[in-house]
Amino acid sequence: MWNFDNSYARLPDSLHARQAPTPVAQPQWVVLNRALATELGLSIAALESAEGLAVLAGNTLPAGAQPLAQAYAGHQFGNFTMLGDGRAVLLGEHISPDGQRVDIQLKGSGPTPFSRRGDGRAVLGPMLREYIISEALHGLGIPTTRSLAVVSSGEAVMRQMREPGAVLTRIASSHLRVGTFEYAIRKGGVELVRELADYTIERHYPHCRTSDNIYLALLEAVMERQATLIASWMQVGFIHGVMNTDNMSLCGESIDFGPCAFMDSYKPMTVFSSIDHQGRYAYGNQPAIGQWNLARLAETLLPLLSDEQEQAVELAQQTLGRYVERYQQAWLQGMGAKLGLFQAGSNDRQLIEDWLQLLDEQQADFTNSFRALAGDPASLAELPPQPLFDSPAFAAWRQRWEARLAQQSESAEQAKALMQRHNPQLIARNHQVEKALQAASESGDLQPVLRLVALLQTPYQVQPGCADYCQLPEPTERVFQTFCGT
Ligand code: AMP
Ligand code: MG
Ligand code: MG
Repeated sequence: MWNFDNSYARLPDSLHARQAPTPVAQPQWVVLNRALATELGLSIAALESAEGLAVLAGNTLPAGAQPLAQAYAGHQFGNFTMLGDGRAVLLGEHISPDGQRVDIQLKGSGPTPFSRRGDGRAVLGPMLREYIISEALHGLGIPTTRSLAVVSSGEAVMRQMREPGAVLTRIASSHLRVGTFEYAIRKGGVELVRELADYTIERHYPHCRTSDNIYLALLEAVMERQATLIASWMQVGFIHGVMNTDNMSLCGESIDFGPCAFMDSYKPMTVFSSIDHQGRYAYGNQPAIGQWNLARLAETLLPLLSDEQEQAVELAQQTLGRYVERYQQAWLQGMGAKLGLFQAGSNDRQLIEDWLQLLDEQQADFTNSFRALAGDPASLAELPPQPLFDSPAFAAWRQRWEARLAQQSESAEQAKALMQRHNPQLIARNHQVEKALQAASESGDLQPVLRLVALLQTPYQVQPGCADYCQLPEPTERVFQTFCGT
């Protein structure tokens, strides 16, 4: 069943604290991700047994686990803080039958030396939210941590009021963060950073080992993955919400789903997070924040890049400078595909931006407008007509777009198929997520969550019964703010 090999536990003690999960009163099943369990080579029958439930609640340690809380730091809204897993423990790394190494982490599993004033616990609603959003991103084909299970604890957690407690099992390629490096440079200096960098290369970027400057190659590799990740968020209207450096994974997975959300109508400065007063992490700021976070990583690597500080800075700046180009390339490619272009180039930028400008002016729905361009799937036929498509500005833009499509060698049919592969019909719309979470928290009805998660597995396909999920919220259903996963 479990096949642990705990490389992180073998790293220097200063990077973690041995910490077992704290048992909970009465664990009960909320949801198990069977497809993921199967992918990881975990037996569903074993997971569903009393012993399996006890493991995912933190009441029993599976054979081979070496539980620990990871130390890390982070820039939170620009301010540096020492942090660490305050309410999570890493049970260990499971090696799947096909050789994939994944972190098995319990979130909400009790206090750790890094808890500060927190209780180490998590509330059911936000854990289900993480489950839904991470599975939604996965369904969209975007790299992300996954959720294996949510179990309720049978214990109340005190927030604004008493809430039901829960434990989420998070699966990640690793939990190495920019913040882990920020911690290492302050705690152990350059030698600890070197060890951590070697570990990161071994685990995620083995090709860097053959480079002349392996740590510069590491920075470049992380930069590449971040640029592509953030471009892919932009293509589906995803707003992470808390892009602090402790929430930026070095392997390029989306991680830590607090007040994140998919936007409905297109407005580049959209913010949902209740704590993001300045709009630092607004939709349109995400690409620039990605680069800012990479600069924090680069700072920790400087002593490893060259013996001469000036040269180290110059090398780091050159690499960071390429971020914009890499991001733009990924954005053009992805947004181009959404408009049916097989080879979008810089000449197509204006066409794409003018389309987005139209969406902005008309406050049109991001997802549905793109999808409507891709054809007229049944699910959209039931939607109210969008004024955007009757506007003279759209007619003028459409002529340019069609002329551009006519220039490529691929047929109109092929272009349409490309668009349908890149324009989801389904996203995890805020109001649907809130409705499903309410049913789960208030009346213990899991069906709406399960139904939503099931539909989000194949968001690009026309699915029977999905029309409701494509609808915009009624005015009374609109969600203006989302809150941190507490
Ligand atoms: P986040 O905003 O989720 O990135 O979390 C920031 C930091 O706060 C991390 O170090 C968390 O482990 C910690 N934290 C969040 N909630 C709690 C809690 N209930 N108890 C202890 N630590 C927490
Ligand atoms: Mg975090
Ligand atoms: Mg969080």
